[in-house]
Amino acid sequence: MNDIGNSPSARDIESVIHPYTNLDLHRRKGPMIIEKGKGVLVWDDEGSEYIEGMAGLWCASFGFGEEELIDAAVEQMRKLPFYHQFGHKSSMPSIDLAEKLLEIAPDGMSKVFFANSGSEANDSQVKLQWYVNNALGRPQKKKILARIKGYHGVTVAAASLTGLPANHAEFDLPIANIGHVDMAYPYRGMEPGETEEEYSDRLARQLEERILAEGPDTVAAFIAEPVCGAGGVLVPPAGYFPKIQAVLKKYDIMMIADEVICGFGRTGNMWGSQTYGIEPDTLSCAKQLSSAYLPISAVMVNDRVHDAMIEQSKKIGTFAHGFTYSAHPVCAAVALRTMQLMEERKILDHVREVAPVMQGRMQKLADHPLVGNVRGVGLVGAIELVKDKATKEAFDPKAMVGFNCAEFALKHGLITRAMGDSLGFCPPLIITESEINEMFDRFEKALEDTERWIKAELG
Ligand code: PLP
Repeated sequence: MNDIGNSPSARDIESVIHPYTNLDLHRRKGPMIIEKGKGVLVWDDEGSEYIEGMAGLWCASFGFGEEELIDAAVEQMRKLPFYHQFGHKSSMPSIDLAEKLLEIAPDGMSKVFFANSGSEANDSQVKLQWYVNNALGRPQKKKILARIKGYHGVTVAAASLTGLPANHAEFDLPIANIGHVDMAYPYRGMEPGETEEEYSDRLARQLEERILAEGPDTVAAFIAEPVCGAGGVLVPPAGYFPKIQAVLKKYDIMMIADEVICGFGRTGNMWGSQTYGIEPDTLSCAKQLSSAYLPISAVMVNDRVHDAMIEQSKKIGTFAHGFTYSAHPVCAAVALRTMQLMEERKILDHVREVAPVMQGRMQKLADHPLVGNVRGVGLVGAIELVKDKATKEAFDPKAMVGFNCAEFALKHGLITRAMGDSLGFCPPLIITESEINEMFDRFEKALEDTERWIKAELG
C-alpha cells in the first residue's frame, strides 16, 4: 500500500541526495523512478514506457538487458568477485581488458591504468601531468588548459577542468594551474563570412596567444572532448584538432583526449580522436567501455609518459596512486565482454548505417521556427532552440525552455536531455532505424507542445 507518507517518492525525498538536480525543486517534484529496461526502452514505476534517447548518461551502448553482459558479470562474480591491483597483484580480466584496449586504441597508446569513473580518470590525468613533468625535470611545466563549456567530471581536479560555471560556483574551484580557452562552437562562435577552416585557424591562434601569455614552459597539457557532450553536443569545425595540435606540438604540450562520451563507436569510429584527427598523448575513457553496466574507466598513456612514471617509481619507490576498485575483476570482465560484443555484432558498421537516419531526422527540423541550430555526428546530436532564428537570440534562461521541452518529451515517451536550450540525443548504439524514427516522431510532438506553451506562457 502506497500511502503518500510511505510512497517510494516520499521515501526518496526524505533520504536521497540527487546529483545534478535542483535539490529544492526535488522536494516538491519528487523522483522519476525507473524500474526496468529492455533494448532502447525503459519503464517507470507507473508502467509508462520511454525511449532512452540519451542511453542514460551517454553510456548504455548496448541498451538495457543485454544478457551477454549480465552473464559475464555473474560468471566472474562466482569465480573471483573482487581483487585489487596494488603491490604487483593482478587478475585475468584486467590483463585481458588492457590488452584489448591497447589493440583498439589510437596509435601510440602503450599502457592502461584503470579507475572507476570518467572523473577519476581525468583527475588521474591531472596528477599524471604533474608527476611526469617533475620526472622530466621541468617542474614549472604544470598548467593544463581546458575549454569553456567542456565537461570532464566533478572530482576536484576534473571539476576544475570542466568549463561550466555551475561546477565552479561556490565550490571554490578551479584549483591552481588550470585554465580555460574558448570552446569550438561554430553556431555561436563563427563570425559572419568566416569559413569553418578560418574559424579553426582563429581558435588555434587564440590558443597559441594564450600559451605565449602563460609562458610555454609552464603549460603541460591541453584536454578536450572530440565532441563536447554535456556542454551541448558541440561538434568541432573542419580542421580544428589538427590545427590545435600543431600549436601544442610546437611548444611540447601534451594532448589529452577525453573520450568518455566519444569512445567506443559513438561518432562512427572506435574513437572520436579518429573521427577528428586527434593524436592523443594520453586518453580517458569510461561509460560505453562497459556499456555502463558496471563502473569502470581507463587512462591510456604513451611510452613517453609511462617511461617518466617508471623513473618516478625508481626515485620514490612506488607509483602512489590507484583505487581499491581499479580494474575490479567483475567490471573488467563486463568491459571485456562489451568490447567483444562490439566486434561480434559489428557495432561500428551498424552505427555508420543508422547514423544518417538520425542525422537526417534532426536536419528535417532545421527549418522549424524554434530551431536555431542542428548539429551532430554518428549517433550523437543536439537541437538548439532559440527565440529568434534570424538573430540567434536565445531565450531568457529563467524561462527554462529546454527543460520544459524535455518535460514535454517525457509525456510523449521520450527521454532526452536539456543542456540549456539545446536538446541532446545519444541513444544506445544498438538502436534500429525504426526506433530512431519513433524517437523523432515523439520529439516532434514535444516540439509542438513547446511551441504552444511558449505562445501561451512567454507570448
Ligand atoms: N568526461 C566526459 C567527456 C563526460 O561526459 C563525463 C560525464 O558525463 C565525465 C568525463 C565524467 O564522468 P563520470 O560522471 O563517470 O565521473
